[in-house]
Order: sequence, then structure tokens, then C-alpha cells
Amino acid sequence: MPKTGLYEVADGKLIRKKKTCPKCGDGVFLAEHKNRSSCGKCGYTEFKKKEEPKPKAKKEKAKAPDTGAPSLFEE
Ligand SMILES: [Zn+2]
Repeated sequence: MPKTGLYEVADGKLIRKKKTCPKCGDGVFLAEHKNRSSCGKCGYTEFKKKEEPKPKAKKEKAKAPDTGAPSLFEE
């Protein structure tokens, strides 16, 4: 099976156009999907991350839980 089209030479370097499966090794390429790449051999799936979702700002917890009970040591 010819593998033409899978490689591209740019600036004298061989560029692999498709991702290979880290489990199966070189020669097994991941199938490109819209938001993921998957290996048809072992089922390995790699999700494409466009942007890390920004973590929501955590609401600051009250320093002490408000129990409603009066502090005995309060002056
Ligand atoms: Zn695989």
C-alpha cells in the first residue's frame, strides 16, 4: 500500500502529516475526526483541545462557618 501523501518534505525535513498512534507505534495513523483523532486498530482516541476552558473563579469560602451560635470567647 503506497503511503504517498502521508509525508511532506519542508525545509529538508520530513514532516509526518498525520498523527501516529502512540500505542501501536509508527505506521499506524490516527483517523482524523472533527474534534478528535482515533486509532482504528486499538481504539486509542486523542481529543483535540482548541482552548483550555478557563477555570471558573472559585467563590471564596467564608473564613469560619456561620453556625449562628454566639462565640463564648467573644469580648
Ligand atoms: Zn492504535
